[in-house]
Order: sequence, then structure tokens, then C-alpha cells
Amino acid sequence: MTSGPMRVRFAPSPTGLLHVGNARTALFNWLLARGQGGTFVLRVEDTDTQRSTRVSEEGILEDLRWLGLNWDEGPDVGGSYPPYRQSGRTDRYRQAADRLIAAGRAYYCFCSAEQLGQERAAALAGSLPPRYSGRCRVLGADEVARRREAGEAAALRFAVPEGEDLTFHDLVRGDVTFQTSVIGDPVIVRSDGGPAYNFAVVVDDAEMAITHVIRGEDHISNTPRQILIYQALGWTPPVFAHLSLVLGPDHAPLSKRHGATSVSEFRARGYLPEALVNYLALLGWSPGEGEELVVADEMARRFDLTRVSHSAAVFDIEKLAWINRHYMKQADPARLVTLTLPWFVTAGMVGADDPGAFAAVAAVLPMAVGAVDRLEEVPQRVAFAFDWDAAEARRLVDAEPDGARVVSAFAEAVAGSGPLTRESFRAAAASARAATGVKGRALFHPIRVAMTGWDSGPELDLALPAIDQVAAVMAQVPTCAERARKMGS
Ligand code: GLU
Repeated sequence: MTSGPMRVRFAPSPTGLLHVGNARTALFNWLLARGQGGTFVLRVEDTDTQRSTRVSEEGILEDLRWLGLNWDEGPDVGGSYPPYRQSGRTDRYRQAADRLIAAGRAYYCFCSAEQLGQERAAALAGSLPPRYSGRCRVLGADEVARRREAGEAAALRFAVPEGEDLTFHDLVRGDVTFQTSVIGDPVIVRSDGGPAYNFAVVVDDAEMAITHVIRGEDHISNTPRQILIYQALGWTPPVFAHLSLVLGPDHAPLSKRHGATSVSEFRARGYLPEALVNYLALLGWSPGEGEELVVADEMARRFDLTRVSHSAAVFDIEKLAWINRHYMKQADPARLVTLTLPWFVTAGMVGADDPGAFAAVAAVLPMAVGAVDRLEEVPQRVAFAFDWDAAEARRLVDAEPDGARVVSAFAEAVAGSGPLTRESFRAAAASARAATGVKGRALFHPIRVAMTGWDSGPELDLALPAIDQVAAVMAQVPTCAERARKMGS
């Protein structure tokens, strides 16, 4: 156990996009730190030089910022334990490795990849767990020195003690026990001099004074190796908590074939960050009292690792959609307009530099919110206000028994009346009804198809004023009066 201020970390490898499962790991760290007055550290684990890229790192940081998971220390903001990229910490790994060698807890291994591959294949063929044989552990000091001087490639391995039971208390999973005899001596420094994950993570977590390591369950088999390394270096291990995997609906780990898996994909599809954060928190945790819609700061106040479930969490896209609808309704209208605008630009409905674009989107957004799951779906839902298809409108009007008569009367009622409001629309509909004697659907449906060119869509008393507001700021968009005149003639 640890004393002193709580320090947690999220330690992504910059080898791709931020997966929602890892985003949940970051979120649980953040919730714990924010709820307990702790420090949230971001460390970039870029020891895999082949696969790590700065582009990936920037993308991950950007996604975390978008989610609102701000960190107190990290590669961009610094902190008391720099540097925050493993590629800058080589000296520290070297020093720790030297200490292990001096203490007889690490040894050079000259086995080639081929040799190791053969051993592995033989073990698997005999249904044994693949585990390093320990061949180089017994080499004499003279031989090691001779081969090293001759320039033979050598990795450094940690000597795992034989025949011990190692138990640690996991805050999510309870007591977890491993037998050291099934753990092969792990490589801690590769033959190219680069530190291996299991080693670098221990040196960094210890030197960065991390008190709680919260990470995915896929790392649980690494934990005993790491604890042994802590012990060999004379350090106290942190508290561990391993989060269950995030699964797809078929109970296989969430992957590409289930659809979107990365935070950036969810963002591109028009989910709000607060909705994704709220949803991710529900994967394995509950804010309590049957409540599900809870904002991040409130979740942080209630968060308790010991109440996180150890059973796997199934990603439910319908539930995320429901939560997103909720937050779309809650969102500040101007913010929502700003967030939705890019999809209108992509759809070609407004120009990127169009001075009227903001007002136009602001006019149509209220009738889409509540009707769509995601911001990406908004333009399609309200396209009639921007692209009026006169020929289609004509065809639909003509298909209605009293279509032409009703639309003519409506055209007369709105002629010269200025932009429609909810009230003036209702008054115009009433006067068309008085003039034609047509009422109900037979009255409203021809008006709908004439004004929108669509057979269905949002409520008319919302849609028609919105059309006029769009027309007021976008020269090429016809007003309701213009649409009516054209259809009524
Ligand atoms: N870089 C590791 C990963 O992305 C971090 C694991 C850990 O948190 O210890 O999986």
C-alpha cells in the first residue's frame, strides 16, 4: 500500500488511434484523480521505435483533450518528473538495469530469435506454456565477458525467483496469485539497447511516484513480473486495478469489425464528448441510485474503484445514441451550432466562409435535436430548408387531391407577409382552410410537400419559420412565400 498524495497515470503507446477501451482506462484514472484531489499524469510509452509516431501521439493527446480528460503532468505541460516520453528516459533505464546486474538479478542472454522460436514451438507442441528455458542464466561470468567483448548481440533478462507464490491485491479483482515458476525470465533490455515494456513501466511508475496503476486486464499477466522487478530494485509497488475488457455485441473484444472503435471515429460521427465520457464511465461502473446520465465532475465525486465490476463490459451503441441525444438537448445552442456546422459544409449546404452559415444552422438545429442520434445526421434531416427541389414538390402537390387549390390559397395568404413565424404560419394555414374548406391532413400535407419537397419531416410550424430564417441569410434559398407562389401558380 502507498501513502502520500495520490498519483495516477495514463500511459498510451503512440502506435495508432486512441481505442475507446483505452479511453475508458484514461477516464477511470481521471475520475479517480479528480475525485480524490490526486494528480493525473500522462506518459507516452514510445519504446517501440518501429511503430511509435508523433502523429499518433498528437492524435491521442487531441482525443483526450476533446474528451475533457485534462492532465496535470505530461509531455506537453511538463511536471516534476520529466521527461514524460519514454524515449527521453533511456539513462534511467540504464541505471536501473545496472543495479539489477550488480545485484545478480539480471543477466545477459545471447539466444537468437531462431533459438527462442524453436524453444517456443517445442513447448507449444508439448502443450507446455512457452517460457524461456533460462539457458543463459547459468553462463559463467568469463564466458559472458568474452562474448560481450566479441560484440555478440545480447539482451538483458530479469532473473525471476523460482518456486514462489506471488499474490497482489487488485482493487477491482481482489487477490490475484501467480506462481513464479510459470513466469519465464523476461527480457528487460533488448539487444538493441531499448528497454522492454515490463521494465520501463516499473522504472517510470516508481520514479514518477505513481501510487495507483489502473489499466486494462490485458496487462494483468505482466503485473507479477513488474512486482518482482519493483522488489528487486527495493521499491514499493503501487496499488493495481485491472479493468475488464470492452467487448462487442458478440462478446469478442471490441474491434474494427464491430464498427467504430477509436475516439476519433466517434467524434467524426457526431457524438458529443460529454456523451461519450458519460457512456464510457458506465462500462463497468455505475454512478448509483439507478442514475445513468451524470456529468463528468459529478461522476468524479462519486467514483470508487472498488465498485468497478470485474466482468467484461459490452459496448452498446444504442445506449450511446440515447445518451448522445440527451446531451444534444442539454448543450448550449451556440456551441451546438459551431459543432454541427462542419457537417453542413461537408454536405455542400453552406460554404465554409459563408457569413450566413452560422445563422442558417442555428435556425434549423432546434427541429433536428431530439430527432437524430448524432450531429452528423443533422444536415440530412433539415436539407429541405437549403435545397428545395421544385420539380419534386410539384409532383407531390399534384398527387394530392386538393393539392393545387390548397397551395394556391396558402400562397395568397403568405404573399407579402414577411418571414413566417409560428403564429403567422398558423394564421396563413387557417386562412387557406377558410378559403378552400379543406382541413386536417388534406390541408397540411399539400402545404408540407409544396414547401419542403418532402413527403415527411419536422413539424410544419417549426419547419416553415426555419426555412424563412435560412432564406433571410442565404440569398440562393427561396422563402416560403416564393416557394408557395411558384407552386400555387
Ligand atoms: N503502454 C501500455 C499500453 O498502452 C501501458 C500499459 C500500462 O498502463 O501499464 O497498453
